[in-house]
Amino acid sequence: MECIFCKIAEGKLPADFVFKDGDVFAIRDAHPMAPTHILIIPRKHIPSLVELSGDPAGNGTSNSVLISKMVSTAVEVAEKVSLSKRGFRLVWNCRADGGQTVEHIHLHLLGGRQMKWPPG
Ligand code: 5GP
Ligand code: ZN
Repeated sequence: MECIFCKIAEGKLPADFVFKDGDVFAIRDAHPMAPTHILIIPRKHIPSLVELSGDPAGNGTSNSVLISKMVSTAVEVAEKVSLSKRGFRLVWNCRADGGQTVEHIHLHLLGGRQMKWPPG
């Protein structure tokens, strides 16, 4: 399967890992949009949030548990890279209008500068 994040998960493409376990991993974004920009990615290939729909993850972990784990991992990684005190932003881009460019679900952790609202 031609999926960049699956290839990174399998060790077939290099990445700057900040965290990894059996379910999820976190890597520094190749084109950072903030001083700290990290992606939290599940090992399981799910194209977008639209495809979640409560299906079992196939490894005994439901997708809702996986999403919850991605969020808690993002918060733990934020603590690890010293973003907790100042704060940070978590972003899910979904499909075309959401600005999703890689069709393997991922959570952006952005920090190190004041974020703007409304987002672009
Ligand atoms: P999306 O636009 O789908 O929400 O986010 C995809 C993110 O993946 C982008 O921020 C992009 O810079 C990042 N990205 C794309 N290809 C690679 C890669 O090969 N390695 C890393 N570390 N990040 C990537
Ligand atoms: Zn994938």
